[in-house]
Amino acid sequence: MSLKSSKLVERSPIVVIMGHIDHGKSTLLDYIRKSNIVASESGGITQHISAYEVTHKNAAGEEKRITFLDTPGHEAFKGMRSRGAHVADIAVLVVSAEDGVKEQTIEAFKSIKEAGVPYIVAINKIDKPNANVDKTKQTLTENEIYVEGYGGDVPWVAISAKTGAGVPELLDVMLLVAELAELKGDTHKPAEGIIIESRMDPKKGIVATLVITDGTLKKGMFVVAEDSLTPVRMMENFMGKSIDTATFSSPIRLTGWSNVPSVGAIVTSYVNKKDAEEVVAAALKSPVIDRPDDKKEIGVVIIPLIIKTDVAGTLEAIVSELSKLKHERVKIKIIQKGVGAIGESDVKTGLGSANTLIVGFHTKTEPLAAELASRNNIAIHHFDIIYKLTEWVASIILERAPHIEVTEDLGEVRVIRFFSQQKDKQVIGGKVQTGKITNGARFRIMRRDAEIGEGKVTELQQQKIKCQEVLEGAECGMMVESKFTIVERDILIPYTKTRKQ
Ligand code: GDP
Repeated sequence: MSLKSSKLVERSPIVVIMGHIDHGKSTLLDYIRKSNIVASESGGITQHISAYEVTHKNAAGEEKRITFLDTPGHEAFKGMRSRGAHVADIAVLVVSAEDGVKEQTIEAFKSIKEAGVPYIVAINKIDKPNANVDKTKQTLTENEIYVEGYGGDVPWVAISAKTGAGVPELLDVMLLVAELAELKGDTHKPAEGIIIESRMDPKKGIVATLVITDGTLKKGMFVVAEDSLTPVRMMENFMGKSIDTATFSSPIRLTGWSNVPSVGAIVTSYVNKKDAEEVVAAALKSPVIDRPDDKKEIGVVIIPLIIKTDVAGTLEAIVSELSKLKHERVKIKIIQKGVGAIGESDVKTGLGSANTLIVGFHTKTEPLAAELASRNNIAIHHFDIIYKLTEWVASIILERAPHIEVTEDLGEVRVIRFFSQQKDKQVIGGKVQTGKITNGARFRIMRRDAEIGEGKVTELQQQKIKCQEVLEGAECGMMVESKFTIVERDILIPYTKTRKQ
């Protein structure tokens, strides 16, 4: 990119929090959100979106911004990395001072190393009586994570995500690391970014959250992520406030997409609609989309789940059972879990998304919570048998899974005769060179290796007898419909499209 350096300005860091389950990632994200977003503004956060921005004073006393990805860090990070996109500038590896390094700490560390982003170790839960910072550092060293003062140069901070001890220092270190990384962006160019969350909202349509990684986005522009497009009409910041313009490193929410964009998809923006449409058309043509061997995620639906149980033991068991429910295109995200009755605050957390499931296990719903839920058309489901609960969630996953269309080529037919044409109906003869052709199949028309259009078989014959399919090596007669006049030596590629759940 030929940018004049004068256009480049400082860009605030995008931070992802990673680590083993229960080591305190969510608690840390909650603490930072609550204590660093201006109180008057945070009151306005009625919906939970998967990234937020805070401000924090650096060593020189200047207010600096930091964006946090409030996603199940590990998965999101992995998904994004597989697309070669590094949305996070800095990773924080949270390790519990009670448990030390665990399996997912090591996995997270591997992802961080592979992505090559700078990282900070946060040794958490130091308020707990069994916390042992030295021992934790030792387990880090044993796993080749060498922190400062322990044979390495990885910055580390001892914190309590619960009491907030050490959290300001952790934010100081983030700003320091960001400064060293010399993050820059160009406000003059059209925005680029990465999708971090997307879903189908029954009322609003398709909604996606993205983080802008460079450039500026303004109302009236057009945004593309893979084969999905949206005009920038409804743009909200992470607090749900409508905004007209946004730049790096802000999380924003856009409504009105043509498809559910995949999490991790790269976002580009355009001033002209035509430019945006061309990019989408190219993505649609691209063979990596829509093919049976395509391993890419084509739009992941996130189902937020709030779960309350009678005792902690069952909560753990249910969370573990739910984590076994895997679906390529649906992810269950537990946004709130706890012990006790379903209260008003649980329902409030759920209001952010019309898709949220609120589930109680061996517990009740408080009357005010029930009222709030019914006013907002949110159903609360109660269960008292674990497998019934997981079965129900599994059925919801299937219900909400976006369908994908898979195109399968059946074979190749070489046109050897052109008999007649009446409007768009044509009678032709051909030879099946590979695979087969079936009656009713749609086909692409290839002329000298270029695709010139499409058509459909309306009648198929072999040796003048009507049939349903003609196999490799045989000749066939066909009545076809196509807007394009087929000529001898064209190759027809019949295909089927199936919808996959
Ligand atoms: P995550 O799975 O990594 O997101 O972990 P959570 O944030 O859900 O934390 C797991 C449990 O540890 C919760 O019960 C938290 O309240 C608790 N917890 C997290 N951080 C701290 C801390 O610094 N001190 C104490 N005492 N408890 C903590």
